Amino acid sequence: MVRAAKAIQEAGLVGEMAGEVDVTPDWKPVAEKVRWLTGGWDDSVARERYRNRGGRPIKARGRLTGPRTVAAGDETYTARRGIVIATGTEPFIPPIPGLDEVDYWTTHDLIAMQEIPESMIVIGAGSSGAELGWVAAQFGANVTFVEAEDHILPSEEPEAAALVEEAFAVDGIEVRTGARAERVEARDGSVVVTVAGGDELEAERLFVATGRKVDVSGLGLETVGLDGSARFIEVDENLRAADGIWAMGDVTGDALLSLVAVYHSKIVAAEILGQDHPPVRYDAVPRVTFTNPEVGSVGMTEADARAAGRDVVAVVKQLPATFAGMVHWVENGIIKLVADRESGALIGATVAGPKAGDVFGMLNLAVHAGVPLAELQSMLYGFPGLYSAIGEALGAYGRGVTTVVDPEYQGLEVLDTIKP
Ligand SMILES: Cc1cc2nc3c(=O)[nH]c(=O)nc-3n(C[C@H](O)[C@H](O)[C@H](O)COP(=O)(O)OP(=O)(O)OC[C@H]3O[C@@H](n4cnc5c(N)ncnc54)[C@H](O)[C@@H]3O)c2cc1C
Repeated sequence: MVRAAKAIQEAGLVGEMAGEVDVTPDWKPVAEKVRWLTGGWDDSVARERYRNRGGRPIKARGRLTGPRTVAAGDETYTARRGIVIATGTEPFIPPIPGLDEVDYWTTHDLIAMQEIPESMIVIGAGSSGAELGWVAAQFGANVTFVEAEDHILPSEEPEAAALVEEAFAVDGIEVRTGARAERVEARDGSVVVTVAGGDELEAERLFVATGRKVDVSGLGLETVGLDGSARFIEVDENLRAADGIWAMGDVTGDALLSLVAVYHSKIVAAEILGQDHPPVRYDAVPRVTFTNPEVGSVGMTEADARAAGRDVVAVVKQLPATFAGMVHWVENGIIKLVADRESGALIGATVAGPKAGDVFGMLNLAVHAGVPLAELQSMLYGFPGLYSAIGEALGAYGRGVTTVVDPEYQGLEVLDTIKP
């Protein structure tokens, strides 16, 4: 979906850069591809693959009945080695008056949609809402975002979020930030959302993208001494929830991403097999939001680092004010680096711009490996790869190069305050 929406925008660039092009978006091939990729929302192929590898998938709702037993369907199964709980999340639907009386979409409905609505209100502009609402807009939907926080993508650096908001405005997407949805009602075949302050917004469709929630009720956690009313399953650094019971993925409430669930699965497998493994860590979790510009980030934001009491230096480099940005015709984008002043190590980084989800890869490694900024400053960058803009932000080409392109850039003085 995102790739197809990007293709529409990339085709639009031809008009600016290289001649003329006429694009008529068509959702049908995208819906077809989604159907193919999801097997028509049928998991039988995946179950077969699992069976072929020696697994025994049982299609039934499971419930713990004791320290080693799980009831599913008409059977009770006994685990020799352990039980892993990986029950994920479900959409969080906020208690907005009137919402339960109207027809609304969640992320699943939007991904499965067969036709693009003429207009759509998206409540919640976090990563999923922003991506999917932006996709619908590229295919012709008139999209309005309603976001209670001051910026869309509230977990990301505000400088990056502001760029996405600006790009949305250029695309004709309306963004209401600091706007809490207070009431929802159906009116003449449309949905009307009243936001704080009294403004009424009207659209054909309502898409609720206000996050995910863990629901552990019904899992029988009490039968193994765990809290059956908890907000998520608490685990230790080895993802152990109780003796012989591990929890992994979204149900742990930590970094709700499939990449984290896969990472958890390796730790849990090692645990069950009695193999050594490093404890779980979350200091270098990467996140990518596939809007245009994309936002790729890893580790702590500046605000999170300061809230955690870290003494940090943070610099923001405008991507268009780098040689690489100019060569690539980048009109909006930033690189933001957050480093620990004492150790000089990078602890957070954000790239917003074209292919940011790939460009930030080296920063992902740097945060993961605790690479000191001095090391990043002394390495060579393949010029004019987009990622070489990171070198410019760090003064890796020398101060002169950076100041020729961007005399306003204050970052190098700030980076100098890091202790060697
Ligand atoms: C719109 C959207 C986009 C996303 N995009 C990305 C992305 O780009 N990158 C990324 O890394 N992550 C992304 N994520 C997050 C990712 O989907 C989740 O983090 C991941 O699926 C979590 O895996 P999980 O195994 O913990 O849970 P899930 O994938 O939710 O699987 C849990 C399974 O358990 C089943 N289940 C629940 N209760 C029971 C029970 N009692 N008995 C038996 N079965 C049960 C459920 O039916 C479900 O099939 C996205 C999520 C959404 C909603």
